[in-house]
Amino acid sequence: MKYYDFSASTPTAIEVVEAMKDWHCDSFANPSAAHVEGDKARIAIQRARETIAEKIGAMPSEIIFTSGASESNNLAIKGVAFQNLEQKGHIITSSIEHKCILNTCLFLEKLGFQVTYINPGKNGLIDPKQVKEAIRHDTLLISIHHVNNELGVIQPVADIGDMAFEHEILFHSDAAQSFCKLDIDVDDFNIDMLSISGHKIYGPKGIGALYVRDARESELVPLIHGGGQEVGLRGGTSPTPLIVGLGAAVEYFPNNVSEQHISFENVIKEYKFVRNGGEKTIPTTWNITFESDEEAKRFNDEQNWLISQGSACNAMSNTPSHVLSAIGLSEEEARRSYRISLPPFKVMN
Ligand SMILES: *Cc1c(COP(=O)(O)O)cnc(C)c1O
Repeated sequence: MKYYDFSASTPTAIEVVEAMKDWHCDSFANPSAAHVEGDKARIAIQRARETIAEKIGAMPSEIIFTSGASESNNLAIKGVAFQNLEQKGHIITSSIEHKCILNTCLFLEKLGFQVTYINPGKNGLIDPKQVKEAIRHDTLLISIHHVNNELGVIQPVADIGDMAFEHEILFHSDAAQSFCKLDIDVDDFNIDMLSISGHKIYGPKGIGALYVRDARESELVPLIHGGGQEVGLRGGTSPTPLIVGLGAAVEYFPNNVSEQHISFENVIKEYKFVRNGGEKTIPTTWNITFESDEEAKRFNDEQNWLISQGSACNAMSNTPSHVLSAIGLSEEEARRSYRISLPPFKVMN
């Protein structure tokens, strides 16, 4: 069986496991401890912070470690909303965000916030003009992802960031599917908050980060109050091995096409399908709709691939993917659609 579900999770790279090893049993001291062993852990964490910051053109002090992109997205959106619990306010996002963003917004709507969900075009792209038209006097935040996890579509985040900056509205982007694969510069893109995840880039599960512009002065309300870790934005003892692993994943991220990519393309061209998501997609995510049920069946009979219908998070429910519905696929078309995701690598541009 071939594993082609790398958008759902990647293996941890052997170099990453190696880098993490010593921080489990040998150097296990609490990185907040005021002794030499604490210093050692703190320095290792700082090194990872620098590696990650450099990758996105940020300052090390602006990287807040979390348990993953879901928590980062929750922190970004609730963190802004909770500053405005009394007067409430308006949030703009899209209808094709990851479920952790959509369910956060749904929760905030129950608290009295208002949310506009921008629909994509048939090509899966969010139009910055529509985002602009949705802006109100009480808009607190715009949250639009960078690369869609089901379609691989690359959203025009730089244009949306420009526009948000012009209107002095905070801009957050979920970059779980683009970090390390595409160039990101938070200043060039005018991004105020950016979510990343370890296990989408050959890092360990259970670690991620939120970039927060000027984090030390940020008014963001923490979700986990604690002992002042992560400049007070995320309490809890910093998990040294996981953080070192995230840093190592960034360092060792591959920048080449593998044998798996070539063998995939040779096999898939034997079938009749259309690729969803138009022109602007990353090369490692293929969302395809087979021409007919018979063709889908032939593929399933001949190829025993580990792939997804929709995202992994939807797999347990019988409802068609909200992303495929949003780009206009019928329930019947969604049933013969699959997401094939190949090993991630740095896309040269
Ligand atoms: C995987 C993923 C997430 C969730 O990341 P975790 O680190 O597993 O919480 C969020 N957004 C997107 C776009 C993803 O692909």
